[in-house]
Amino acid sequence: MIFLPILPRPDFALSSVLEITPAWLAARGLRAVFADLDNTLAGYGDAEPCAAIADWIASLADAGISLAVISNGRPARVRRFCGGMGGVKYVFRAGKPRPGALTDLAGTLGLDAAQILMVGDQIRTDISSGARAGMRTALVYPYTPKFFYRLRRRIECALAGLAINN
Ligand SMILES: [Mg+2]
Repeated sequence: MIFLPILPRPDFALSSVLEITPAWLAARGLRAVFADLDNTLAGYGDAEPCAAIADWIASLADAGISLAVISNGRPARVRRFCGGMGGVKYVFRAGKPRPGALTDLAGTLGLDAAQILMVGDQIRTDISSGARAGMRTALVYPYTPKFFYRLRRRIECALAGLAINN
């Protein structure tokens, strides 16, 4: 028998984090965004946010929305990227799909899981960790749409029973 993992279905399937505006969050009772880094906020190895993402980060801050970066990446990579993000909280080697890093940070910020959106490009790590932490989840299209990422996304969407494959 072949073992196929059942992956959680994300609550939202979006093209990009740029769709997550303060108004979009407010309409859903969400007050904080926990975001994956690689292929969600930037391409692999990008040292800093592009202008559009930097503007998005500023727009959330202006609206009083908490943003934190939850990455399984290495300390040097995550520190370098997040260092210029105006005091945004970040976690490296977060251990996703385990939910501990998300739950711990929610506690530090004094937020209930129900108020937090976890967003990322991978169902197996990002969406799973958010769902297990009791947060709502949003899947975004990989920042760098290389063949491998598109293939992995198709497999993950199939395993999650998700028709959307954008
Ligand atoms: Mg990622």
